[in-house]
Amino acid sequence: MSSDIPSQSLDVESIRRVPKVLLHDHLDGGLRPGTVLDLADSIGYRGLPATDVGELGQWFRDAADSGSLESYLETFAHTCGVMQTEEALVRVAAEAAEDLAADGVVYAEVRYAPELFVERGLSLPAVVEAVQEGFAEGERRVAAKGGRIHLSTLLCAMRQHARAYEIAELAVRYRDNGVAGFDIAGPEAGFPPTRNLDAFEYLRTSNAHFTIHAGEAFGLASIWEAIQHCGAERLGHGVRIVDDIKTSPGGEVQLGRLANYVRDRRIPLELCPSSNVQTGAAPSIAEHPIGLLTRLRFRVTVNTDNRLMSGCTMSSEFAALAEAFGFGWADLQWFTINAMKSAFLDFDKRLDIINNVIKPGYADLIAS
Ligand SMILES: [Zn+2]
Repeated sequence: MSSDIPSQSLDVESIRRVPKVLLHDHLDGGLRPGTVLDLADSIGYRGLPATDVGELGQWFRDAADSGSLESYLETFAHTCGVMQTEEALVRVAAEAAEDLAADGVVYAEVRYAPELFVERGLSLPAVVEAVQEGFAEGERRVAAKGGRIHLSTLLCAMRQHARAYEIAELAVRYRDNGVAGFDIAGPEAGFPPTRNLDAFEYLRTSNAHFTIHAGEAFGLASIWEAIQHCGAERLGHGVRIVDDIKTSPGGEVQLGRLANYVRDRRIPLELCPSSNVQTGAAPSIAEHPIGLLTRLRFRVTVNTDNRLMSGCTMSSEFAALAEAFGFGWADLQWFTINAMKSAFLDFDKRLDIINNVIKPGYADLIAS
């Protein structure tokens, strides 16, 4: 499907210059290591595993890579641990906007669970307002330097807690202040999304948008419940949909009913390749199902999940995929337009970004 101009190599540097769209990025998974150190110092947070910026960054990647759920969760204990004040939330959000813009991301939906930031007495609305203030500040800083980024927020509820309805109400309350939707995150096993049916029904009857983390480590049942019982518009990861796709030894591909439904309805898959490799959901980038799902024309989007823990950016994810699967500029534009089409942003704004930012950004790289 690609008819690229071959002289332009797809390395991280050249990919950084084209417009990109990110739908699945966790605020508490994207801090700068230096900011973690600064904030720990200023709020008296103890227990960080390193005192040097380089070492701390490396520690986050190694701990997330270790294959141990305990050390993976410990990384978030530290980032959330330093994000317990309004000042900290404003700073982290503003820097997320700057870092994404510097990577060439023009639109991002950044998500977090407000209930994780109330340990030192902040109320849920105070958390949301601080993050929105930070995003607005980050957008202003980017614009002042001649750049452009628009951020929307997704509020997550944690599966293992019982606050989904309350968080859904919070998402609707702030829908005109930058909160574009809702998500449910946390451990899939033992916590099916149907536990929170009242929250999803409330969102649907409020005409509000939501995605659900489903089919990351856990299988098809989780994807099926998210779509058919809860009404999820997108799938956070959704990578296990490949369990419903059979390839014969002769190379013939057959889709099961659920995979067919997901593809027919153009349900977006928020795929996060590096993160999947770290958590064991895929053995390597080269063996990641994104190659097959792209070939079968599912509504594939590429995402970072946790930039700090995976040591990745949108550009490095695209570069790794281009190397592993031979994707060209036309493929990167396709992923980017897929993501923009699937965003929880008003239709006219999505069209504007597709026609006036994304397509012109790739035009010189794709032979017509
Ligand atoms: Zn995620």
